[in-house]
Amino acid sequence: MYNESMTAPRASARGLRSELDAEFEQLLDSSFWNRDALSFWLRVRGEQQEQLFAAARAAREKVFGRRVVVRGLIEVTNLCRVNCEFCPMRRDNTKQNTIFQLKEEQILETATHIRDAGVNIVFLQAGEVPRTTQLVGNALPKVRKMFSGPVEFLLCLGNKTEEEYTFLKRPVVFLNNEIFIGSEKKTVAALKNAL
Ligand code: SF4
Repeated sequence: MYNESMTAPRASARGLRSELDAEFEQLLDSSFWNRDALSFWLRVRGEQQEQLFAAARAAREKVFGRRVVVRGLIEVTNLCRVNCEFCPMRRDNTKQNTIFQLKEEQILETATHIRDAGVNIVFLQAGEVPRTTQLVGNALPKVRKMFSGPVEFLLCLGNKTEEEYTFLKRPVVFLNNEIFIGSEKKTVAALKNAL
């Protein structure tokens, strides 16, 4: 049970880095965060809230250091069949929302802007609808081809079946202007021939 007599961490973010006191270490311990503790710390305000933010910043700096990672985000669609209460794209809002869904050429055009901006992390995000599997899965090899160097893809498309995940992560090889997609026997044989 959470003890409400516990005080917030007292030190500043800088101070916390140098002197991780017992209270701060307790905040970093996942077993500390039971329902009562979460409820208490979500409701703190004023100085105590500032102290909590300082602890969060200190924890972030400890793990990630002072660096910024820039990702290029492509919002594929705001349609969703799920109804998460916190989310403006939830199913119940569909009638009020202006619905959009990108076509493949719009995904490719947006990816071009991301590449031209010097960003090599492409994050494709959508509500959970089955149609994004084919749309995004077909666009991924083409987006990959746009980048001459390494590129990282992040997908946030909701829950998919195992079969859909297999499709989304299928291997892609570029060789002399040719593209080989997937690991079917005929594709592997064609790749071997081209080597
Ligand atoms: S599944 Fe994702 S997009 Fe859909 S309602 Fe939940 S959080 Fe929003």
